[in-house]
Amino acid sequence: MARYIGPVCRLCRAENRKLFLKGDRCKSDKCPINKKRLPPGKAPKTRMGKKSEYAVQLREKQALKRNYGLMERQFHNLFDESLRLPGKTGDNLIILLERRLDNVVYRLHFASSRAQARQLVNHGHIAINGKRVDIASSLVKPGDVISVIGQAKKMDSIRHALEEVQKSGVMPWLEVNADEMTGRYVINPQRQDVTDTLDIKEQLVVELYSK
Ligand code: SF4
Repeated sequence: MARYIGPVCRLCRAENRKLFLKGDRCKSDKCPINKKRLPPGKAPKTRMGKKSEYAVQLREKQALKRNYGLMERQFHNLFDESLRLPGKTGDNLIILLERRLDNVVYRLHFASSRAQARQLVNHGHIAINGKRVDIASSLVKPGDVISVIGQAKKMDSIRHALEEVQKSGVMPWLEVNADEMTGRYVINPQRQDVTDTLDIKEQLVVELYSK
């Protein structure tokens, strides 16, 4: 299936929650999910009634998949890999998603969205341990050093994204040197540390794929 290239805010509206697909805009008042206001006393014009168990599981899977910007096949492959690893499948799935190179580039604030991070990787602007890697799905290992390379070091979009390091730092399993535009993936995160974006219930995804 081809990658979705339409307006990404529609994906958030479909899931009825913020998926953080547009960088800075998602944290601002311009986010249309923030603007959604229902007139007082009036019933919302949404589909009423109880959702089926399948519908709830499907929506959770779609939200998680869209948040990380994966296509169905990629997401399912990662789920299959999480089944093969020791430990809880749901936890493994989240950790594998976090280990993707495009996600790590985003988490290090080299990009303000995962889509932008994927583009940086695809265009050959990122190296792991000094070696250029242009595959966004590459999995980063503990101890790996990720850096912006070449002409990309002059890109305003990266400098702008890195301003976020001063404001909010990086996730606890990462280290970043904003001046050098390098970062280190120190250890794999614990599931409970991955709390900043979606309040995702990955167990529902496991149940969906286990049917
Ligand atoms: Fe659009 Fe971001 Fe808001 Fe989603 S969270 S609706 S992508 S601005």
